[in-house]
Amino acid sequence: MAIREILLLGHDHLRAECAPLEDTQKELAAKVAEDLRDTLLNFRKNFGFGRAIAAPQIDALVRILYMNISGEETVFVNPVLEPVDKETFYVWDDCFSFPGLEVWLKRYKHVRIKYLDLNWQEQELLADGDLAELLQHEYDHLDGILAVDHAQTSKSLRFNKDKMGKA
Ligand SMILES: [Zn+2]
Repeated sequence: MAIREILLLGHDHLRAECAPLEDTQKELAAKVAEDLRDTLLNFRKNFGFGRAIAAPQIDALVRILYMNISGEETVFVNPVLEPVDKETFYVWDDCFSFPGLEVWLKRYKHVRIKYLDLNWQEQELLADGDLAELLQHEYDHLDGILAVDHAQTSKSLRFNKDKMGKA
């Protein structure tokens, strides 16, 4: 169990294409998930926001996402996300890797995510709106894509001092 350093915008490893996990790597998956949990909970304490985190953000270049909403946690191993239909919406997005910077971007409104849990059982989740946005954000991280890449104009970026943290 460890709180890991969160890589910040500009770090090369945030741009990596992460590797899928083999079923011989269950122990590694569990260890990464635990570090993601500890790191997310610590970030939330310091910055006042945060519901999910992707493995590359703690420099683990594997395809794992961790989500914690109201204490309920979900670990996504080797997730595959796809839109359910073509409906989209706009939202201000933020990220642990550039706290304070917000990006106005377009996301699919309804998505389906298929993944393995830590016991390597296949799972599926349908998500709408806010949760769909969150999952698309985290999923992008596994392919080295960041929210800032979705900024469409100079007006798509703004700074929010309340999200800069206490440090
Ligand atoms: Zn992020």
